[in-house]
Amino acid sequence: QPFTSLLLVQTLVLMSVSCPLQEQSDDSSEEEAAGDTEMDFLRNLFSSTLGLGSADKVLDELTLEGVARYIQSGKCKNIICMVGAGISTSAGIPDFRSPGTGLYANLQKYNLPYPEAIFQIDYFKKHPEPFFALAKELYPGQFKPTVCHYFMKLLKDKGLLRRCYSQNIDTLERVAGLEGDDLIEAHGTFYTSHCVSFCCRKEYNLDWMKVKIFSDDIPRCDKCSSLVKPGRWISVSFYFSIDFPRCDLLIVMGTSLQVQPFAGLVSRVSKSCPRLLINMEKAGQADPLFGLMGFGGGMDFDSDKAYRDVAHISTCDDGCLALADLLGWKAELEELVKQEHARIDSQDKKEKASESKGAAAKASSASAAPEPKKEE
Ligand SMILES: [Zn+2]
Repeated sequence: QPFTSLLLVQTLVLMSVSCPLQEQSDDSSEEEAAGDTEMDFLRNLFSSTLGLGSADKVLDELTLEGVARYIQSGKCKNIICMVGAGISTSAGIPDFRSPGTGLYANLQKYNLPYPEAIFQIDYFKKHPEPFFALAKELYPGQFKPTVCHYFMKLLKDKGLLRRCYSQNIDTLERVAGLEGDDLIEAHGTFYTSHCVSFCCRKEYNLDWMKVKIFSDDIPRCDKCSSLVKPGRWISVSFYFSIDFPRCDLLIVMGTSLQVQPFAGLVSRVSKSCPRLLINMEKAGQADPLFGLMGFGGGMDFDSDKAYRDVAHISTCDDGCLALADLLGWKAELEELVKQEHARIDSQDKKEKASESKGAAAKASSASAAPEPKKEE
């Protein structure tokens, strides 16, 4: 197998280069982070390609209890959460991929080639309608974050959350208190929107987008009349490269890990980094074919070689409550949910009151001319 031996030689060369770096990096400063990251990445790539068993076993037990003890040990400082639609179902938001929900039926009429096409920019540029139909259904402010969302807020408050990567567009992570760099919304966010034209990229705010969405207008740029899409234009892969090699614990919740680039991210953490899945079914397991070809790194919960992956099969809320309980945070989490839900309810009441006042004022002065529609 000449291919394998070539890789082996390359790996040995790499390792001899990386040794001095490794020795220095015991008390690694931020300046060394970039070099470290690159080495971690290469080491991971080659060790997974060659199946080198250099990975340390970090968890004393492949259970939720084992994960809790690891978090309490103080060695786990950078937790990354990857979350999908499953964390929002208990908020009342149906998964648009599930037949039988109103949302699914609603999107059927658009004849999507496959459900995830709704989030793909090439499809969006040709057919923006289904995205905005979904956006209207899921518009922020109509739902309350779940126990699982507040568990991530608790991780943040305790200084343990490196970042949350979300596939959802319901923005409940933000409502729960994740903000700025805490959060990467892989499919975009309503908070800022941009013109999709490469040479324009004009930015629009939440209020502007809200008016468009609720008037069933397809939002178009004032400047160049290209489509406007919720979301920011920073490269998500920039974050992958700085976050994943330095992750101490990956928590995957409410996603079946079937959509790229999300699905591939679980293999971007180091070989020794424990990975906890909280989901209604197992997901992300290694594809035997890809495994053979050296692109492995999928989850391994059950084989004799399993050493770091834990599957907790439950709803995301139950899983987070159970973990919080093991960490001694349960009362704190429940109190946070109670307080925040009460705050959102009272805010809703205030907003509704002022909206009906506003509507009455508008009705009495009904003179606002409709905005002229822009043609392509
Ligand atoms: Zn524009």
